[in-house]
This record gives sequence, structure tokens and C-alpha cells, in this order.
Amino acid sequence: MSVVTRFAPSPTGRLHVGNLRTAIHNWLWARRNGGRFILRIDDTDRERSNEAHVDAIRDDLAWLGLDVDEVHRQSARFDRYEAALERLAADGRAYRAYETAQELELKRKVLLGRGMPPVYDRAALALGEAEHRRLEAEGRRPHWRFRLDHDRPIEWQDLVRGPQHLDPGLLSDPVIRREDGSWLYMLPSVIDDIDMAVSHVVRGEDHVTNTGLQLQMFEALGARPPDFAHEALLVGSEGKLSKRLGSLGVDAMRESGTEPIALMAKLARIGTSLPVDPVIDPTPLIESFDFATFGRAPARFDLDELESLNARIVHLLPWERVRERLPVGMGAADWEAIRPNLRRVADAADWWDILHGHVEKAAQEEDRPLLVAAAEATAAIDWADPPWPQLVSRLKSETGRTGKALFLPLRRALTGRDSGPEMAALLPLIGREETIARFRAAAG
Ligand code: GLU
Repeated sequence: MSVVTRFAPSPTGRLHVGNLRTAIHNWLWARRNGGRFILRIDDTDRERSNEAHVDAIRDDLAWLGLDVDEVHRQSARFDRYEAALERLAADGRAYRAYETAQELELKRKVLLGRGMPPVYDRAALALGEAEHRRLEAEGRRPHWRFRLDHDRPIEWQDLVRGPQHLDPGLLSDPVIRREDGSWLYMLPSVIDDIDMAVSHVVRGEDHVTNTGLQLQMFEALGARPPDFAHEALLVGSEGKLSKRLGSLGVDAMRESGTEPIALMAKLARIGTSLPVDPVIDPTPLIESFDFATFGRAPARFDLDELESLNARIVHLLPWERVRERLPVGMGAADWEAIRPNLRRVADAADWWDILHGHVEKAAQEEDRPLLVAAAEATAAIDWADPPWPQLVSRLKSETGRTGKALFLPLRRALTGRDSGPEMAALLPLIGREETIARFRAAAG
């Protein structure tokens, strides 16, 4: 069986970490198996769907490195849905109903009041042709329901949740088409999965009940259903899916300087038994991807953890991967010296300014003799060899200073800061003349 997965967002907003995680898992599974990854735009709801969001979704997936093999749009497939509905109606698996939302709500309340499950009573199934004509003559338009088979238990082996069982008698026949002719998500998704030969449906566990209903739709349409994997939901570090987190958009991540591979590394692995490792390309994520590692408990997403993972990944990125985002002239040696101090690639510019800009930080009175000595020692040492160890050993013996008392004033004089990249790496980048000049300036 060839593996085909699909990511099926509704274009009603920007992607956020929750649905991005689903996209990543679908992509990883397709790539792991040499299969195809489909982007399906669920735009049956024309009013809420927005072309700008479609573009943004495609752009965000591209930014993340999720290459898409096929793109489909539900809005281009209404003929297919129409044909399938006709077939289901002819087979007695779809029927027209006329109850208004208020009428249905009343029925629900009555059932709940009697302590019974609020399942639709199928009153519309009993309507004859004459009654349909009468209702339509009154100006009522029908909506369509899918008739569940109550005699067949719904069962499947979920790739994450294990054996699943639902009692169809406890479920209402789902509405599949509204009275205005628009489609609800449920049936079109099944038709698409059949037509696009989708082998695995990977989505959040909020869809578990839908899967039960949809399995019967696959059967009613004479198709073998795909395998299902329902992943536990994503929650914030405080335990609930906070509003902020739920709406944490990819756009915000991009702006904050998060590397796409950091987001992928994090979202691929949280909620699984595998460690969240700093990786610089997706290969290890693809190779290790396995639904058996997915846990049932909600996956916790913590922004601080993402930031520190991002930093660890930045420390590993080779110059070739970032050169276009670095200040003009910043070479591989500069990058390697600076990289261990960065949390984001963009921060390299600050260090570049420090290396090449104007640093003016007058030393404290008691450090001035040290800096006078440092300027002289810098001029005296052999710059063909690594300069920093030579400078340090001279100053130790000349001044008797060691540790912080020695290093901090030198660092401040050269960088204007109390911490930063290894001085041994920085010194050759600042260069002999500039080093002497900075020591002298600080000595006053
Ligand atoms: N458009 C649906 C959603 O975003 C797709 C669900 C599915 O993957 O089948 O929830």
C-alpha cells in the first residue's frame, strides 16, 4: 500500500502551533514511507474561507520546509459531493429532514430531561413523498442527514489510541448538507479521502467521534477506509490550552526569529516518548517517526522550551545555512566565534557591531594600569600564533591578576559587555590594531 497523507486546514485563519503539529506529523509519515503528502483546503464554507489565508497557509508550510505533493480544494469538488449524495440517497443512506435549529434543540432538551442520550429521533425518515412536497410548498428547505447503521458496532484499530469502539445507537445521524445547499465537513472529507487514495488520516483526538461516523460513510460508499491516528491535543505549559497558545500563530514565530527546523523538531516530538533533540535538518525526525511512540496524555507546549531549543539549534547551524541572514562581510570564522552566544540568528548583528563598530567603555580607575599593560602586551605578542593565550599569560605574570579580576576588564574594554563569545575566538576577529586601540581607549 502506498502511503498518502493529507493536511486539511479550513482557511479561516492563520495556522497555529496546534494544526501545524498535525501538518508536521502527516508530512513526516508520508516522507518516512516514500509516500505523498497532500494539502487539502477545506473551503466548503465560502463565507468564512479567505483567499489570503490560503496563501498564508501555503507560505507557512513552505517556510517550515513541508513540501506538498498535491493541492486540492474542496470548493472545486462540489460535483463529486453531489454525486455521492445522490448515491447515498438512492441506497437509503441519506435522507432529507426539515427541523429547524429550535425544534432540534427542543427535542434534545426533552430527551436530556428524561435522562436519555440526546440522539436525533429520525422523525424525518418517516416522511412520505406527499409530506416532502407539502413541507417544501410551505417554503421549508430540507437539510440532509446520513443514516447510520445502528446494527453494526463501530470499531477500528487506532494507530495512537489502540482499539476503539463506538456505539452507533448513541450517535445522531449527522447532518451532511445544510438547507442552503452548503456542505458540512463530514461527508466531503470522506469523498476526498477516497478519491485521493488517502491511506492514513492523522488528526487531533477531537475528531474521534467524527471518525466513527465517517467509517460508516466509507462503507456506505463501498470504499475501504484509511487507517486513523488521533493524536492527543496540545496544551500550554500550565496544563490547559490557553487562548494565547491556541492562537499562537506561525506568523508570530517567524517574526520572533524562531528557526523553522526548531519548530519542527519541537512539534514532531512533544507528546511522544522520543526526546526533543536539537537537529538541523528533518532527516532524523523522519527516520524515527513512529505512531507507537505517541502518548495518550495531552502534549505540553512551552514557549520557553522552544526558545532554548532554538538557541541550541542556532549553535549548530553552519555558516552556509545562515550566510544570507548575516551582516554583509561576516565570514565563517566570525559566525563560528559568535554562534555559541546567540539565541537567534538575527542577534549576530549585535556582535558584528561590537567587532567592527565603535566600543567605548572607560575602564574603572583600578583597572587602568592593567589596560595600559594589555595594550603593550598586545603589540608585543606574535599574532601568527593564537594571540589570546599569549596575552593572558603575559598579563598574569606582569600584573599578578587572575580569574575575573583579569578577564572582566579586558572583556569590557574590547566588547563593552560583561559576557559574550569566547575572547580567544573574538580577539583575532577584532584584529591587532583595533585591540590595541580599544585597550588604550579604555585605559584613558
Ligand atoms: N478541516 C478539518 C479540520 O481542520 C479537517 C479534519 C480532518 O483532518 O479530517 O478540523
